[in-house]
Amino acid sequence: MTSFAASDGADLGPLQSGQCVAIIGGGPAGTSCALALKRQSEALGRHVRVLLFEPKDFRLESNVCVGVLSPPFNHLLSDLGLHLPPQMIQRRIGAYELHTDSADLILPERGQAEEQTVVVDRGNLDLFMLYSARGAGAEVIKEAVVDFRVDRDGVTVFGNQGTEVRCDVVVGAFGLTRIGLSTFEARTLYQRPGMMRSLLTDIPLADELIEQHVGNNIHALLLGSQPSVEFAALTPKRGHVTVNVAGPNISPVELDVSIAHFQRLGLLPKALSPAPRYGNAFPASPAHNIYRDRAVTIGNTSGLLRPLKGKGINAGLLTGMRAAKTMLEVGISRRAFDSFYKSCYDITSDYYYGIFLRWLYRFSRSLGVLDPVIDLAHDEKTLNRCFYNMVSGEGSYRDVVWSLGRPLLWLRIAAAVVRHGRGRLLAKA
Ligand SMILES: Cc1cc2nc3c(=O)[nH]c(=O)nc-3n(C[C@H](O)[C@H](O)[C@H](O)COP(=O)(O)OP(=O)(O)OC[C@H]3O[C@@H](n4cnc5c(N)ncnc54)[C@H](O)[C@@H]3O)c2cc1C
Repeated sequence: MTSFAASDGADLGPLQSGQCVAIIGGGPAGTSCALALKRQSEALGRHVRVLLFEPKDFRLESNVCVGVLSPPFNHLLSDLGLHLPPQMIQRRIGAYELHTDSADLILPERGQAEEQTVVVDRGNLDLFMLYSARGAGAEVIKEAVVDFRVDRDGVTVFGNQGTEVRCDVVVGAFGLTRIGLSTFEARTLYQRPGMMRSLLTDIPLADELIEQHVGNNIHALLLGSQPSVEFAALTPKRGHVTVNVAGPNISPVELDVSIAHFQRLGLLPKALSPAPRYGNAFPASPAHNIYRDRAVTIGNTSGLLRPLKGKGINAGLLTGMRAAKTMLEVGISRRAFDSFYKSCYDITSDYYYGIFLRWLYRFSRSLGVLDPVIDLAHDEKTLNRCFYNMVSGEGSYRDVVWSLGRPLLWLRIAAAVVRHGRGRLLAKA
């Protein structure tokens, strides 16, 4: 087996019995990494110690998230030896509905029953993952990491309540929290990813009203009249709906405008009781220098995420599991983590296609041609599938881009845009 060595000669090969991994953060990325490390090391007959730092009590404080789990979430979970408890599922999503300023498009969910998109409470999901990691033998330390030092023989990690541990490798899975980002930037050459802001509110609504007005569909607003909002969505849950908006400089005003638009569409009642708002960010571009000898980042921290429909929870699971595999099979040196990065080729190779599609979406929206294109997608099968793949995150963006490369499709789009423009002129006259 290849053994990797640091420049000073310290052995940084695959993790062996008695070695220790410190994981900073118990979100999807950190817990999946911990689970995979414990399960796979035991299967290899090695006893690797896994320390998982997570300060939050998920029963009281959730990570900000809508809680949409789309395919292949179940598949990834079963790779970790887990199954989502059915009682955790608040809704099974039936369709995505797109609403522009003057057009609507329903895109029915195309997944199989066992791979259908579902909605859960994020706090419950994190709790389930954390308990599962603990059940598999990871030691959970309820502290925030405030610093770490990497030296020739290992890493020293410092918790905010005085805990100091010595380990062989540190995994940054702290999402986009300021203290985690600053610490990693100070101690390694890591540079944080670009970020998109997102705001979210849970609006209490009786389940009968949800059935009546929203159904089991996720509604997305793609409004030319609200250019500062990249997207806004309304997701049905149990006893409430979640409205979230995202954009580079989003503020509560954009959230209010989106809620008002959902009210005009008849999806929300006219009178709403005030509900708290929560803000967070997600990566909008990759981070740089995401690993070095004895240190690697995963999940949101690494910025290894799809740029349009992020599926951040799935990306967290994927990168967590792949980093664990690398540490057990290849090693913990910078060179070893090259193979972790290579194993994320499905994400990295799709990145620029996603950026292109985001640009195309924003450009067509700013030109005011999104409405006729959405109208056309009712009957135009290729276009319909492209919209479905973009909003559901199914398939690769590369496939979407290639399927758009048909001249006949663009002729149809041009004809629809001209018809739409002529109709508007006639209406004005
Ligand atoms: C508004 C919003 C809605 C979203 N909705 C969805 C959705 O519906 N579906 C989806 O797939 N994705 C969604 N995402 C994205 C998704 O939440 C993230 O991509 C995903 O949670 C990333 O997982 P992670 O483990 O990398 O980071 P996180 O989930 O952020 O977990 C990081 C963990 O690290 C802990 N931590 C932070 N600092 C420290 C420290 N110093 N020491 C120890 N622990 C620390 C935190 O407490 C946290 O539990 C949404 C994002 C936003 C902002």
